[in-house]
Amino acid sequence: MQHIDEQYIIDNFDDALEKGYIRAYYQPVIRTLTEQICSVEALARWQDPQMGLLSPYLFISVLEKRRLIHKLDLMILENICYTYNEMREKGLPLHPFSINLSRLDFNEMDMLTAISDILKKYNVPPTAIHIEITESVMLDNTAYFRRIFDSFHEAGFAIFMDDFGSGYSSLNVLKDYSFDVLKIDMRFLSDIGMRSKKILSSVVNMAKAIGIHTLAEGVETKEQITFLRTIGCEMLQGYYYSKPMSSEMYIEYLAKADISVENRNESEYWDTIGQVNFLSPDPFNVISSDDFPIDDTSVLRESPTSLALVEVCGNKVKFQYANRAYLEEVKKVGYNNTGEIEAAIANMPKVYFQNMSEQIEQSLKTGKLIKKDHYANNVYFTYSTKCIAKTENKYMLAASIKSFDPTRNANREQLFEKYSHVLIDTYDHITVIDHAKNRIITRLYSKIGINSEYITMPLDKARLLFAQNEVLEDERERFIKFTDFDFVKKHIEITENPILQEPFHIRNQDGEFILRDVRIIWTTVEDGEKFLFIIQSMSPSACEMAKKVMTEYSDLLL
Ligand code: C2E
Ligand code: MG
Ligand code: MG
Repeated sequence: MQHIDEQYIIDNFDDALEKGYIRAYYQPVIRTLTEQICSVEALARWQDPQMGLLSPYLFISVLEKRRLIHKLDLMILENICYTYNEMREKGLPLHPFSINLSRLDFNEMDMLTAISDILKKYNVPPTAIHIEITESVMLDNTAYFRRIFDSFHEAGFAIFMDDFGSGYSSLNVLKDYSFDVLKIDMRFLSDIGMRSKKILSSVVNMAKAIGIHTLAEGVETKEQITFLRTIGCEMLQGYYYSKPMSSEMYIEYLAKADISVENRNESEYWDTIGQVNFLSPDPFNVISSDDFPIDDTSVLRESPTSLALVEVCGNKVKFQYANRAYLEEVKKVGYNNTGEIEAAIANMPKVYFQNMSEQIEQSLKTGKLIKKDHYANNVYFTYSTKCIAKTENKYMLAASIKSFDPTRNANREQLFEKYSHVLIDTYDHITVIDHAKNRIITRLYSKIGINSEYITMPLDKARLLFAQNEVLEDERERFIKFTDFDFVKKHIEITENPILQEPFHIRNQDGEFILRDVRIIWTTVEDGEKFLFIIQSMSPSACEMAKKVMTEYSDLLL
């Protein structure tokens, strides 16, 4: 480590401040889920003409001892204001800046007034400034510092606890003060082995339990980031992303194509989402921090409950997070990863996701936890969704998926078999049609005695003959149009409704034409898309309605 004479620091400090040798360097803080910059920490650097670049470790303790530290800290704040305004003038997106304060700052002066005066001078709002304080500051005079913090909070500043875990009484400090963010320094962990991982998980878990946001600093490796993401640590800072930079370098850095800054209007959105406890066995219920039960088994492993954070923006969905349990469940439904689901939703007609879309809409509208059963690719699953945060144009859903296990599935199949005749009994006639192959695959059921010869013919022939033999003459043309499956497909896509339904008079066994409800339902099974052709009898009142439509509003029909 560099060594420097204490006296050199003291003799040259004022001059260095005045000549601008001491300046703020900026290190970005990254939102874990989006990898966007959500704030920046200002760190003091002394570029001495004789001694070269001096680390804060060399001069901060000296300045504290000589009761000069407040001068440095206020000077760094002026630097921040200067940079903030430069960014504002250049039209760059603005984000908050963190400033480090020393405990001795508070002994020297009324820090809140001093800071507020500088902000006023530069027209910078207090919400643009985060105050970082190390826990050692607060060890003694609890009541005194609590008052100070309250006054900073009231004035609109956020307070970060710096270097959590480095001191001796972190837990007391957490109990006694209300912080907004806990900064956990990765460098206090000698490695990222199992023990460190357990400690980190516990700290993040505990922070969420008491409603404090988490930030890991000193992040240097991809491995660390992957782990921090898994446990739900909200923000990251460290050499992996960037070293502290001079103000000029930082402004250049912001202009780079792959760097993006979080929209200030969305910060609250991301903060709310950050409160979800990824490790909890019941992640849906931990969004409000007050009534969250601390489960000590949950801190040691990932949640057994599948959990994803799904952002919905118009017709687009984006998975911002998915834990291992979620990915495993998704595989059972036939997708290898969440990217495949996003692609499917983007590329397939919306009707395919009809039930899912309805569930999502219901979640957004009610804000309640919605649970529904679905069926896809031969798998039944229950999907749970809850809207946890929203902005003007997008929503974040917490989602969980649970496929039915084989034992339950078998049971379910038996039940289906047992009751399926009741379901089928509500229809008069059902056939399955493969329009691409121009054939009727099978007749599932018919209780109105319709001739079975149709199923042996090509589809295009069958529908014409069916119209000829089974449909009232006046309605034949409409029926032929109704069973034009190219038309049906287009209609379904446009209306986003997988059911096409019209009334027709269909002949019964006695040769009498009875008014019935005829439906074509679009569906997909593992070997491609199919249509169900269904005839159903109508209740007398439905018959009345249908007759009225057919006579008075016939333009509503095809
Ligand atoms: P800190 O507030 O915990 O700042 C983080 C320190 O970690 C910074 O060191 C930063 O350069 C360094 N760092 C960031 N990412 C990484 C990484 O990935 N790996 C490693 N090995 N280091 C990383 P720096 O700038 O030397 O500051 C040291 C400490 O000095 C700060 O710790 C803070 O407590 C204090 N300090 C810095 N500037 C000021 C200031 O303006 N006022 C006051 N009062 N204290 C300051
Ligand atoms: Mg700091
Ligand atoms: Mg720190």
